[in-house]
Amino acid sequence: MTKHGDGTRVVRAGLPGAEQGTPFLPGPALAGPFHLEGEVDTSPWVYTRYGNPTWERYEGALAELEGGEVVLFASGMAAAAALLLTTLRPGDAVALDRDCYLNVRRLARTHLEPRGVEVRLAHHSELLDALQGAAMLWLESPSNPKLDVYDIGALAEAARTAGALSVVDNTTAGPLSQKVLDLGADFALTSATKHLSGHADLMLGYVATRDAERAQALRDWRRDAGAIPGPFETWLAHRSLPTLALRMERASANALALAEALSGRDDVSGVRYPGLPGDVAHEVARRQMSGFGSVIGFDLGSRERAERFLAAAELVTEATSFGSVHTTAERRLRWGGDDVPEGYIRLSAGCEETADLVADVERALDAA
Ligand code: PLP
Repeated sequence: MTKHGDGTRVVRAGLPGAEQGTPFLPGPALAGPFHLEGEVDTSPWVYTRYGNPTWERYEGALAELEGGEVVLFASGMAAAAALLLTTLRPGDAVALDRDCYLNVRRLARTHLEPRGVEVRLAHHSELLDALQGAAMLWLESPSNPKLDVYDIGALAEAARTAGALSVVDNTTAGPLSQKVLDLGADFALTSATKHLSGHADLMLGYVATRDAERAQALRDWRRDAGAIPGPFETWLAHRSLPTLALRMERASANALALAEALSGRDDVSGVRYPGLPGDVAHEVARRQMSGFGSVIGFDLGSRERAERFLAAAELVTEATSFGSVHTTAERRLRWGGDDVPEGYIRLSAGCEETADLVADVERALDAA
């Protein structure tokens, strides 16, 4: 079969074959129970917590992009919890990137430590040491919110040598820009709440892996813990998939244009975007990413100036999260818990016209 590019594959990924008089993407199977007579193993669909055809179709589409099996969950955090809790046992240790998403750090500290799992929070440069004797390495690249980039291939190899499983949270980049399993990681974790669904209207998450047994353990966890995606949300996300490459293309072009404009100003410091040629992470990012995503970070020097900027920008919606068609931003430290300055803004470029967006951000900076 012809091997097409991802931008082509997303258009039809997961769609059933052409059948006369049927829709391209069948509607969501909105069911708790399905008709089920007699013995329970006579039907593939019995009860949605056990499985649902709408999930299966979307998981099949994502599997094409990830190059592994995909297990879908109710949110990125539901996927993270499933992965941590099905893999780690009392007495195990996990080496966790100190800059990874704050709720993943909280989940590990609150729910793993009391169960006898040692949680080793480590800075980028300390991860290799933290890995010794650990059962799992967990990193995020590019990291959220600081946008550091890790050499995924080298760290996955180091984890394998140390006898640990490697997990990469790929939410910031997404499966078109960064092929985590190809780079050697055992698991890719993605919050599909962001770019994958792309319209700020739902929550989903998934784990991709080439290990069939571990994929089954995740499905069993989903069934038993009930961390299940809604069929309607799943269908909406599948409906958004054909435009993923187009949206990522425009959003990353906008992110680069904004990062360049911000770098040229003397009232903005600490601009981070892995796609920016001058960024400290650009070389390693270029080796392992085919696009650099929508998220940039920069420091406006104080909380007050950051707040004035957010209030003045018309095309930048103040909200948490990222990866939507709408440009969004927030002063990250309003949540606490991240190692960033008071005036640090995390901004996710949307799909507006580049010139309009850059002009709006420049004008808001002048006003702030
Ligand atoms: N991983 C990263 C990097 C995130 O930014 C987020 C959410 O912001 C998550 C995981 C969790 O995803 P969700 O909000 O879908 O539970």
